[in-house]
Amino acid sequence: MSMGSYWFKGDYMAKCPKCGKEVSTPKKTWKMAGRADKSGKKTELTIGLFEHCGKTFRAATGKRKI
Ligand SMILES: [Zn+2]
Repeated sequence: MSMGSYWFKGDYMAKCPKCGKEVSTPKKTWKMAGRADKSGKKTELTIGLFEHCGKTFRAATGKRKI
């Protein structure tokens, strides 16, 4: 399974980079607007901050056009 699939799921799921386990509950989430495409539409990403194995890592948990 490619990492890219997580971008479209919309639910919170990220894999720990150390042990590979799926972490479903982010400590924190925030939204980030991406660059506008040719038609001027921006993509809004939802980023989650996850913690596992004493490490924190970020993963995109949602994506939508704004
Ligand atoms: Zn882990």
